[in-house]
Amino acid sequence: MCAIECGKRGRTVLVIDHAERTGSKIRVSGGGRCNFTNLNITPDHYLSRNLHFCTSALARFTPRDILSLVEKYHIAYYEKEEGQLFCVKSAREIITALEQECGQAGAEIRLSCRVSDISHAKMFAVATSEGMFSSDSLVIATGGLSYSKLGASDFGHEVARKFKLRVTQVKPALVPFVFQGRDQKIFKGLAGITVAAAVSIGRKKIRGNILFTHRGLSGPSALQASLYWEPGEPLLIDLLPLLDIDEVFLSARQSKMELHTLLAGHLPKRFVQTWCDHMVISKPINQCSDKELKSIAEGLHTWRIIPKGTEGYDVAEVTAGGVNTNELSSKTMESKKISGLYFIGEVVDVTGLLGGYNLHWAWASGYAAGQFA
Ligand SMILES: Cc1cc2nc3c(=O)[nH]c(=O)nc-3n(C[C@H](O)[C@H](O)[C@H](O)COP(=O)(O)OP(=O)(O)OC[C@H]3O[C@@H](n4cnc5c(N)ncnc54)[C@H](O)[C@@H]3O)c2cc1C
Repeated sequence: MCAIECGKRGRTVLVIDHAERTGSKIRVSGGGRCNFTNLNITPDHYLSRNLHFCTSALARFTPRDILSLVEKYHIAYYEKEEGQLFCVKSAREIITALEQECGQAGAEIRLSCRVSDISHAKMFAVATSEGMFSSDSLVIATGGLSYSKLGASDFGHEVARKFKLRVTQVKPALVPFVFQGRDQKIFKGLAGITVAAAVSIGRKKIRGNILFTHRGLSGPSALQASLYWEPGEPLLIDLLPLLDIDEVFLSARQSKMELHTLLAGHLPKRFVQTWCDHMVISKPINQCSDKELKSIAEGLHTWRIIPKGTEGYDVAEVTAGGVNTNELSSKTMESKKISGLYFIGEVVDVTGLLGGYNLHWAWASGYAAGQFA
């Protein structure tokens, strides 16, 4: 996006990428259908040490702008849920559109090109496997650390440090949680089961499905919770966020119905079976004491787990944290210290929620820098 915009301004542009193909993350994004933006984008959908940093770029490049490109290339798209726009056919179409736009703007792309050193005197000098390049602007768009198999590296953070720009602490995010050993043993049989839940972490409450995996928890609300989670913190999971199970127990108080039969009316059967085998003792409701029912209700509304960790960078959709936004102009993405040096996309400490926000940040910050670099 940045190369296209720079090229349109008549700049001579070279995109250097060590990967063999362009846009590898776009290709795998959205399960291969690329959730390329979200109609409801606001700065509130982003996390950063400076929550206002993304406002300016997002105001200048809106979902309508990326849609113009998508429509120009006749790429069919649809709204999945809550404003999330996906390609009908394939993420590959977005890559092709960007490549063609680059071509038309005269921006050259060099793939399989390794960068060994960057230095700066009057100009930037970039030493690569294909020789030395010099330029008066240098834009770092090397993304985060997640999915190293797709070419991700900490290169961008290293460049920032080299030029004495601060980098905030980074962590894998939008990533599944891994259970502690005991929970893993209990719940691994539930892999593939989803529960409409609400995951709370600190004061943050995220509604949506959780998905049991062989090792822990995934699904939209667990992934989103990983943005806020720090090691050792508990997750509180409401397994029945739309129901007051106390009321249900009260109305069935005299019933001889087994607890697990009652719960199976509200939760997946296999989940209830495991829950009743390990967390409570199933018996007829009328034989449960008030105290027992209260504790069961509490367990279901505030299931407390302390994850062992997350699945890490190999699986994370994004890297939270990055180049400290105080180092950059929110209008241009240029370093305040080093004139001509720009950082855009995921390498910057701006992380979007799940739902097309991260790619939109990549487009918007790229567009912003593209007007100045
Ligand atoms: C599985 C998966 C699914 C995702 N799905 C979505 C989604 O549906 N919607 C959404 O909004 N976001 C999604 N994301 C996140 C989104 O893909 C990223 O936030 C976005 O691609 C970041 O764009 P970027 O240009 O900053 O970095 P990237 O897209 O990561 O691009 C960085 C480029 O820099 C190159 N590079 C890295 N290091 C070097 C180096 N040392 N030398 C030369 N080149 C280098 C890489 O090869 C790569 O081409 C997903 C991520 C993953 C991993």
